[in-house]
Amino acid sequence: MDKVNIFWFRRDLRLEDNTGLHHALNSGIKVIPVFIFDTEILDQLQDKSDRRVDYIHQALQQIHKELKNHNSGLYVYHGTPIEAFKKIIRDFKVDRVFCNKDYEPQAIKRDRQIADFLQEHHIQLQDFKDQVIFEKNDILKNDLSPYTVFTPYSKKWKENLKNIETFTLNKSHFASYKGSTEIISLNEIGFEKTDLHYIKPELNSQVIESYGKYRDFPAMDHTTRLGIALRFGTISVRKCVQYAAKHNEVWLNELIWREFFMQILYHFPMVVHQCFKTKYENIAWRNNEEEFKAWCEGRTGYPIVDAGMRQLNETGFMHNRVRMITASFLTKHLLIDWRWGEAYFAEKLLDYDLAANNGNWQWAAGCGCDAAPYFRIFNPYEQTKKFDKDAQYIRKWLLEDYTEDPIVEHSKARERALITYKEALAE
Ligand code: FAD
Repeated sequence: MDKVNIFWFRRDLRLEDNTGLHHALNSGIKVIPVFIFDTEILDQLQDKSDRRVDYIHQALQQIHKELKNHNSGLYVYHGTPIEAFKKIIRDFKVDRVFCNKDYEPQAIKRDRQIADFLQEHHIQLQDFKDQVIFEKNDILKNDLSPYTVFTPYSKKWKENLKNIETFTLNKSHFASYKGSTEIISLNEIGFEKTDLHYIKPELNSQVIESYGKYRDFPAMDHTTRLGIALRFGTISVRKCVQYAAKHNEVWLNELIWREFFMQILYHFPMVVHQCFKTKYENIAWRNNEEEFKAWCEGRTGYPIVDAGMRQLNETGFMHNRVRMITASFLTKHLLIDWRWGEAYFAEKLLDYDLAANNGNWQWAAGCGCDAAPYFRIFNPYEQTKKFDKDAQYIRKWLLEDYTEDPIVEHSKARERALITYKEALAE
């Protein structure tokens, strides 16, 4: 049996400009590409027709198809990563395993475990920076501590942005394929086909170039919808940043927010469960379950909030402006713990990303690293006047016979939130 190197796909599901894959293909040994449907992650998903699993599956089918043109193919495993690697090292004579880095706490733990396991078999796990421009300690304050405020972070980020290196892959270095014609089916991993139709993501120049002007108006739908592609790496972040740096700084800033929250999660992993500003743990959340249910189902009687929640429930997407309004409403008007809202978004959002979701929820609740001050309470009616004045977005998502009464009165809820927050912070 000839020696091979393994490339392990994770959040980088593409055959273009993929750092780890580039290094694997240039290693001088043929490469076997693999993907693992990790049961530790899949088992946590309640909904067996999860569109994100379907998205991954379709992206893998696409990769498999492209690899066939190079007389190769993708090996897809189903199980825990350890189980899969036990099988991989039985099936192949593995020299090294290549992958791209992942910065979420669970992923770091998994990778450490796999690195140890491989080490026992004298196989090295080599990982590369790929899903961000700047990682971990690349952007630090002068005293070498991590930034916790966005503006100075973004300034340093931009100062450090030099020519971005992209990689052309040498696809003739994949090993020839001996697996079955099709990859494992969704049913075989316990999931069902959904209405999602995977299209290879592209940069939309028309949207990006006028992003700053129109991005805040939900009815215009003038954002890139690249969230899921950046989440699963079906598009290269280097390609996005290269384009953004040339064409639209407002959009570039959004990509920097993405990295800002990633480095926050990396340096302060306790934010997964805790407020970044610990004083906010004193807030006496009301946590009324009926009201939470009404919020989830889009029945608060605040049309902009309800329209947003219905967009989320029906499509797995919600416009950013409306995400901010619905999150503020839950945490301030209803005084429900941001963690409840965060978990609901995590279940529903196609572009769900731990760092971004957690960071933005903490921002909305006021308890995050660089959060909106607690006394800034969005008025849903004023927000509607400003960003959906003809109620186009609201009408799109609410039925004609929508007659919900407001679950709370705005000024009373505002007062109550101010008092509750003030009390918590005074303690
Ligand atoms: P665009 O508006 O075109 O922006 C391009 C990309 O930049 C996005 O896809 C995303 O990767 C990144 N980005 C944009 N805004 C932010 C931001 N504020 N923070 C971090 N990254 C950003 N974004 C997620 O990717 N995953 C989440 O789970 C998520 N949860 C959120 C929860 C709340 C309460 C709020 C207020 C925002 C959340 N966001 C999240 C940020 C933002 O709403 C989405 O990234 C954006 O709406 C996705 O739309 P788009 O793909 O058209 O991106």
